[in-house]
Amino acid sequence: MKKVVVLSTGGTIASKKNSDSGLLESGVINGDELLELCDIPSDIDIDIEVESVFQKASMHITYEDLLLLKQKIDQHLSKPEVNGIVITHGTDTIEETSYFLNLVTNHAKPIVVTGSQRAPDEVGTDSFSNIKHSILAACSDDLYDVGVVVVFNERIFHSKYVKKEHASNIQGFNSFGFGYLGIIDNGYVHVHQKPITNEYFEIKKDLPEVDIIKCYMDADAKYIRTARDSNIKGLILEGVGRGQVAPAMVNEIIRCVEKGIKVVVTTSAEEGEVYTTYDYLGSAYDLFKNGVILGRDYDSKKARIKLMVGLASEYPNIERIYDPSFY
Ligand code: ASP
Repeated sequence: MKKVVVLSTGGTIASKKNSDSGLLESGVINGDELLELCDIPSDIDIDIEVESVFQKASMHITYEDLLLLKQKIDQHLSKPEVNGIVITHGTDTIEETSYFLNLVTNHAKPIVVTGSQRAPDEVGTDSFSNIKHSILAACSDDLYDVGVVVVFNERIFHSKYVKKEHASNIQGFNSFGFGYLGIIDNGYVHVHQKPITNEYFEIKKDLPEVDIIKCYMDADAKYIRTARDSNIKGLILEGVGRGQVAPAMVNEIIRCVEKGIKVVVTTSAEEGEVYTTYDYLGSAYDLFKNGVILGRDYDSKKARIKLMVGLASEYPNIERIYDPSFY
């Protein structure tokens, strides 16, 4: 019999209405209660162990929490009888947690993160179907060596590209650019594509502070100046198109580079890469010439996590960290 460990962390999937306000409180249901409510049908012949790691709204989760979660994953997956892990989590930051865990864990066995857009006691809840599908995915041999995935609304997404695309609809997630890896239909897990590279970083010191600043037409440099004056070790500029920023930002960006801050430019576009297409003030080429790292097709939040993890792992050539040939 296969065995899956469910690690619960909170979110809407573990929420109940507050009796005073009538509004949802995230994470009030612990893992055992959730799995009991879930009523996994007996036709699923899987041994399920549950552990409540924390019970939080996902915006309340810290990197300290995530390092604890990583430790739990390592502990459970080191046991030969455990086939895979399911993590139940708030949807607001699933894309961040799943990608962080993807970078810092190094297991062949599946690690699946899921959540729900509707609370377990809401009509038409997606809580139980998402948990059931995640448990099935965590048992799938086809998801070996894939890294951390997110299962949501019958679809399997890789953590590198998954993004919350809808604030409330049960079709809440998408992977722009490369699509989802597979589906779960009628109890079967069908995997249609897998990444050809695996990313792993061994954390050797504290995760550094890395900020994200969004760039828009006619933006000024005050946020960059404030970031530079603080203790950050990295800065992600969410540029536009091929990676352009507003001209008034450029001098402060150069000062950040001169101070030793690792500065990365990404694009707010959902698909496509930052590239040195244009030669003008604030273009990706202009930034690159001044020591800014090109963040390829990384979403700014994923680029931030990768820079934090790369710096904390003391990776010697951080300039190449977003380069696919790096692996
Ligand atoms: N606010 C919730 C959270 O903890 C949203 C959710 O789980 O869907 O992320």
